[in-house]
Amino acid sequence: AQAAETHEFQAEVRQLLDLMIHSLYSNREIFLRELVSNAADAADRLRFEAIQDESLLEDDPKPRVSIQVDADARTLTISDNGVGMNREDVIDNLGTIARSGTRRFLDAMTGDQKQDAQLIGQFGVGFYSAFIVADSVSVHTRRAGESADQGVLWRSDGKGAFTLEPAPRERRGTAVTLHLAEGQDEFLERQRLRQIVRRYSDHIALPIELEDEQGEMETVNQASALWMRPKSEISDEDYQQFYQQLTYDPEPPLEWLHNKVEGNQSYTSLLYIPAQRPFDLFEADTQQGLRLYVRRVFIMEDRENRLLPRYLRFVRGLVDSDDLPLNVSRELLQHNRLIDRIRSASVKRVLDSLERMARDDAERYARFWSSFGTVLKEGPVEDPGNAEKVAGLLRFHSTHGDGGQTVSLADYLARRHEGQTAIYYLTGESLAAVRNSPHLEIFRQRDIEVLLLAEPIDEWLVAHLSEYDGVPLQSVAKGDLNLDGLGDSPEEKPEQLETSEPVDALIGRIREALGDQVSEVRASSRLTDSPACIVVGDDEFGLNMQRMLKAAGH
Ligand code: ADP
Ligand code: MG
Repeated sequence: AQAAETHEFQAEVRQLLDLMIHSLYSNREIFLRELVSNAADAADRLRFEAIQDESLLEDDPKPRVSIQVDADARTLTISDNGVGMNREDVIDNLGTIARSGTRRFLDAMTGDQKQDAQLIGQFGVGFYSAFIVADSVSVHTRRAGESADQGVLWRSDGKGAFTLEPAPRERRGTAVTLHLAEGQDEFLERQRLRQIVRRYSDHIALPIELEDEQGEMETVNQASALWMRPKSEISDEDYQQFYQQLTYDPEPPLEWLHNKVEGNQSYTSLLYIPAQRPFDLFEADTQQGLRLYVRRVFIMEDRENRLLPRYLRFVRGLVDSDDLPLNVSRELLQHNRLIDRIRSASVKRVLDSLERMARDDAERYARFWSSFGTVLKEGPVEDPGNAEKVAGLLRFHSTHGDGGQTVSLADYLARRHEGQTAIYYLTGESLAAVRNSPHLEIFRQRDIEVLLLAEPIDEWLVAHLSEYDGVPLQSVAKGDLNLDGLGDSPEEKPEQLETSEPVDALIGRIREALGDQVSEVRASSRLTDSPACIVVGDDEFGLNMQRMLKAAGH
């Protein structure tokens, strides 16, 4: 037999191990959650591969995870009959090269142990958490479909290196054995293990078995797909726990929508609206997305936003279809009428639920808005069909609001002046700049409300949202404004000013001084205190947009 060979961990992995052991100690029980979740993922991957090649299931088709304790040896073993790993998989996944999430995890660690313990799952570095409680770990594994002599044994004390050696293995799948460090004996107690599994892994949809003193296996979790159970049998706590297992988000979700659709096509969806913004919401390769199942088999994560459009990417949860083929591919998903229908129904469910929240629970909606409002503003651009509905959910700063981003377009319309035929807004680089803009002077004087838009996305929003409830949106910094007879200062007659001789002379001198830099200089009634301001044409981009385009190299 070949001898064991030694591989060094890459520096980043060493750093990760070191940090993890020291900084997550007070939440060390999460190691079990991570190992069980890896075992369950391996079972999901096998089921998926077995759709193409049933022989992978060998004579052992029922997926399970088992936990065994050996008190004398002080070891804890978590084994699965999932997809397993071959030598290359082991080297790739367990240590030689840092996985993509490693660096990001290190950067994201906050020092708050509770929060960092959640991050582990989000960044794909969970396996290493075994070293929080173990002074050595071994992984014995064999890939489904390969022969017993392709088995591999990985061993490490988590200090700087691991060894690899061939180790035949009859059963496919993986067994991870932890030799517990001194002081970690609590994890040899079955009652403690039962409690941890129930707390973190109750809704993993395959049985997690614990071996008792007599060698009998006892299933300790619910082991059923929560979303398939009747709603009446699922408690709020169940829903929240399931959400945590799915997302690793320590905050409970703001809302969940559980729907079973039967008829022409049948599917179940369970959609959650989270309370807090995930770290990668604005990154191109965000890990967010719904999970797609076909008849309880996990198929894929919807990274391409087929099940829901991008502006609803904050929604977490899953869709389980009865009618899609099991061997559904990404390509097939792109052009599939069943998916189109699930998508439009899901969009409607989410938007309707946000409308309800906005109407019935302003405080909760304000939380939602502060986490995800910016993303929702992408809606009218991406989904013109729902532009009006999304527009109704938007909230803005305003000259007339309470100072926060709280004014809806409906609020605005409800208190507009008689005869006012536009929704006025002003965009700018910052809220302070917008608030202090001379463009607002005449509006303040006449007590006409103006929406104040200071986020970069706002320029795109107003470029695509031309009206709400039949009333056009109009920038107060663009083109001619006609406020005649509007608002509170009807006695003013600024028109006279525009034709008087001294004004003409002044305009002539300013034109000369500015030359080509401006296309026109004219007298205006939009100012009351400031002597001058810059205005752009009706059909030109706003000044802020021009700045953004310039910054982007246009
Ligand atoms: P993540 O699970 O988020 O990918 P982990 O650090 O928990 O990150 O696991 C790293 C990788 O190791 C997994 O992606 C998987 O490829 C492999 N792995 C870990 N445990 C198992 C297992 N029980 N069976 C098969 N592969 C596993
Ligand atoms: Mg994992």
